Amino acid sequence: MTKPRVALMGLGIMGSGMASRLVGAGFPLTVYNRNRGKAEPFAKLGAVIADSPREAAAHADVVISMVADDDASRAMWLGENGALGGSKPGSVLVDSSTLTVKWARELADLATRAGREFVDAPVTGTKPHAASGELLFLAGGSAAAVEKARPVLSVLGRDVIHLGANGSGALLKLINNFLCGVQAASLAEATALISAGGLDADQSLSVLTNGAPGSPLVKGLSARAAASDPTIYFALKLMAKDLRYAIEAGSENLLSLQTAGAALQVFQNAIASGHGDEDLSAVVNALRPAVKRPA
Ligand code: NAP
Repeated sequence: MTKPRVALMGLGIMGSGMASRLVGAGFPLTVYNRNRGKAEPFAKLGAVIADSPREAAAHADVVISMVADDDASRAMWLGENGALGGSKPGSVLVDSSTLTVKWARELADLATRAGREFVDAPVTGTKPHAASGELLFLAGGSAAAVEKARPVLSVLGRDVIHLGANGSGALLKLINNFLCGVQAASLAEATALISAGGLDADQSLSVLTNGAPGSPLVKGLSARAAASDPTIYFALKLMAKDLRYAIEAGSENLLSLQTAGAALQVFQNAIASGHGDEDLSAVVNALRPAVKRPA
């Protein structure tokens, strides 16, 4: 069976790993990135570089977007050079970025009106999982559209979970990152208190990470913060974006996510101190000097 033609728009931390997987698995791939420099390495691997999202989508059976936020997603799909207008009838459109539920649904409506099928399919997992095809796709859309996208998504992830109608993938992803963001902010404050209270950091963190609070996220982040590893797995500013989007989703459902609000404040402070473009784990070290021991 011939492999479906794929277009991938957005070659950041996640998109670049996904593009490598697709070329490695032999899918005919066209890539687009706003900053063309990030696309060049993929030409050497056999991908075609498009000059616009529209051009990228033109011959693809499955069109995937993996960009920062709602604004970036809008830029990929809409407008004169957008992928929606350029996509061919019968293709399935997938957005794997972490988006607001509102935008995911609006995009699905626009796609339906244009006679295309759309799946919101954000992912859990981070940089290494994108590179090794071990993401988890949280999919919203019709069963038929999800099945159409599955042969491609299966190369990128360990599973594709169909949650329901359009917007349900976006919603569960925001709930997932709301929980992660709250844990990360709490870890930052806990680490600051360990330091301000004069406890031994290694010993105290070992007790916490090996005990009840030691979730995979808390374990991973505290190890990364302790190692001061400069690798960016997930930009800190994107977690602030996800918390904002989760709070918005809460409001749309008449819920006030108060712990998300508190966590967002911690992230906004870290961004204000210049850590927004660093890895999420920088939230831990950003807080540490802020808490001083009383004289
Ligand atoms: P990233 O490395 O910062 O890459 C962002 C991508 O979005 C780049 O291709 C960038 O293009 C593009 N972009 C940003 N603003 C744009 C705009 N206005 N117009 C056009 N393109 C724009 O981010 P990432 O870590 O790959 O994350 C991508 C998405 O996956 C985000 O929604 C994120 O929340 C989600 N996610 C990330 C992780 C993770 O661990 N990293 C895990 C799960 C989900 P340029 O190169 O031209 O700037």
